[in-house]
Amino acid sequence: MAGMVEQVLLAEPRGFCAGVEMAIKALTWMTRVFPAPIYCYHQIVHNSAVVAAFEAAGVVFVDDLAAVPPGAPLMLSAHGSAPEVAGAASSRGAVVVDAVCPLVTKVHHEVRRLAGAGYRILYVGHEGHDEAVGTIAEAPDAVTLIDPEAGLASLPSSAGAPVALLAQTTLGHHEWEGVLAEARAQFPDLWTARRSDLCYATTNRQAAVEALAQRADLVLVVGSANSSNTRALVRVARAAGAPAHRVEGPESIDRAWLAGAGVVGVTAGASAPDGAVRAVVAALAPRRGVQVVQVTTEEEYFPPPPQLRALLLALQAAVEGGYGARRPGRAGLIEDDRSWSAARALEVLPTG
Ligand code: SF4
Repeated sequence: MAGMVEQVLLAEPRGFCAGVEMAIKALTWMTRVFPAPIYCYHQIVHNSAVVAAFEAAGVVFVDDLAAVPPGAPLMLSAHGSAPEVAGAASSRGAVVVDAVCPLVTKVHHEVRRLAGAGYRILYVGHEGHDEAVGTIAEAPDAVTLIDPEAGLASLPSSAGAPVALLAQTTLGHHEWEGVLAEARAQFPDLWTARRSDLCYATTNRQAAVEALAQRADLVLVVGSANSSNTRALVRVARAAGAPAHRVEGPESIDRAWLAGAGVVGVTAGASAPDGAVRAVVAALAPRRGVQVVQVTTEEEYFPPPPQLRALLLALQAAVEGGYGARRPGRAGLIEDDRSWSAARALEVLPTG
């Protein structure tokens, strides 16, 4: 591919969000604290390279808790779990750490509160996606799943109950806005969250890919096929007028896409490691180099899940009790959490 591309425009922000950072670091802690195998219910994040790295480190991913031996250390994924899964997990695992993103938890709370208040909830999301399945399970009788592309066309009418509109955090903003406009027209007293359920990372990455699409001949989005926010980035780039494709890494770039594409925009879904982005840029080998297109900065940080915090604090207390007080000025395990990254965690994972 060398010589075919003149310049790469690199989106900023791109790649790992605060929820993915938290989940990857939390599972890395589990590999450090417990001997293999460690179990994880569903893929920790939707990225095949991240999942393969953890599998090599002794993590077993399962879609059924029955596959987890009683008493084994268990983590629940960043996408959030149904209440009955979380309940069954805590009666099965000796140590259960729920790595759900707090922004997914916020939508679970909304579903419970609105269902309790008698609302009929329309939830815009992708059927079968882990996040949608877990969220709907909070109040299945009160929730109707709305396909973002189909909209409300096939919604059976019903009178009486007030109506609320909620969403999966990773939708494309065009799709969300389309369903929102339809719902407002159909239900004048519609309840929606003051800020939509689309999370900050989804919103920022979509704004960045739109900026790329306006200047690039082609946009490549790094991420896995089962990553909802990655697929949304492809759709947003196409809607902004650029040909766009998802790539897992450099091996999935089709040379035919590059014919006549002097300027290539590159971004990544929220679960895609930056190593894959760097490999894609290296394969494109742009003659005039790389220009970063930054639309905003992000400073969000999510601390480790409470169950892991408790575990690490107990370990720390045991070590300090056994070997003397912590040295002055030396941060403990929890205070240190901001000083390392998920990218670093993936680099230092044991490989079996
Ligand atoms: S994409 Fe948004 S909701 Fe999903 S893990 Fe990242 S911050 Fe949380």
